[in-house]
Amino acid sequence: MDMAQHLSETELSAKILRHAVPKMSELNIPVTPENYAVWYEYYKGINLDLKRAIDGLLANNLAFTPTMSEELYRTYIQVHSPELIENVQTETHILINSLLAKIASMSKGTSRFSESLTEFDTALKDDPEPAVLQDLVNGITSELDEIISANIDMDKSLTSMSEEVDALKTEMVELRSVVMTDQLTSLNNRRAFDKEVISHIDSFNLSNVESSLLVVDIDYFKKFNDVHGHLIGDKVLAYVAQALKNAVKGEDFVARYGGEEFVVLLPNTSHQDAHKVAENIRIKIAGRNLTIGKEKKLPLGNVTVSVGVASLKASDDKDSYFIRADEALYRAKSSGRNCVIGERVAEELV
Ligand code: GH3
Ligand code: MG
Ligand code: MG
Repeated sequence: MDMAQHLSETELSAKILRHAVPKMSELNIPVTPENYAVWYEYYKGINLDLKRAIDGLLANNLAFTPTMSEELYRTYIQVHSPELIENVQTETHILINSLLAKIASMSKGTSRFSESLTEFDTALKDDPEPAVLQDLVNGITSELDEIISANIDMDKSLTSMSEEVDALKTEMVELRSVVMTDQLTSLNNRRAFDKEVISHIDSFNLSNVESSLLVVDIDYFKKFNDVHGHLIGDKVLAYVAQALKNAVKGEDFVARYGGEEFVVLLPNTSHQDAHKVAENIRIKIAGRNLTIGKEKKLPLGNVTVSVGVASLKASDDKDSYFIRADEALYRAKSSGRNCVIGERVAEELV
């Protein structure tokens, strides 16, 4: 089910609430904030890995044991920093409890009403006096009024709850972008890369169009820091980040992998083309004379980068893919730095 297609965020939140809670109770899953987060994401339909995992469990009639639920949460949801997630969890908790209370009082109301209807039915069979009949009808009408007003309350609280869920979602989106972004360079961070590389591999497995990975590392950066100081080093990292971003196009994905090391995912890009992209990056960075200070008067010289290139194979997982690019990078370092080495030696000569 893809609920996200035609609805506003608020409508979507409300709709998901109405699906997720009954489904969880059908499957005997306690409505904890963690479990709710899992099922919210499931019905939203955007987290495809999570959706696939749950659909698999459902198709095989596997029980959602507490261990399984924890595992789903840990694997597919828990990408947030602890103090922020705690915040979101508290709010979700309050929200869910008030929703459950409403649902409980609502169903109590309706079952009492159906009891009254049965009594009314029995009384009718006794062929009552018009006055008694009038009393019975009045009784039913007032119960019906109560139920209608309970429904209006329910509707109101669902609307306000869906607004709260909406706010919560916004918070989660912000949270996600904070935890997926490297503060120094504003690039995607390692966590974002780990996530992205999985969909990069999935798309490759579907399309079979060659896709590639660059690992880019600044040469002798320790020395640069020693000479110019860490603060200027930080500015150079931001500059290299920008240079990488400028050198790639829309669907390419640039991240700071750590320290002075960057990764670039190039979907639908052959090994040879990836090599060209890398060479282009290398030349641009090496060719720029860096300066700093007012009116950019203080020259810093230039920095260079070494790049390793790997292209996906059908047998790859994210580790084997990264390791091959990293090995190529290592060879670039040992062959003198400021160069690009691909895993396929023959193609380097092209
Ligand atoms: P190589 O050419 O072999 O890559 O040498 P290198 O000096 O670049 O590599 P090494 O791994 O020995 O040192 C990496 C240095 O990068 C260490 C540290 O000074 C610097 N570095 C890592 N992260 C940061 C950062 O966030 N800011 C700054 N300014 N420097 C950093
Ligand atoms: Mg380095
Ligand atoms: Mg390094």
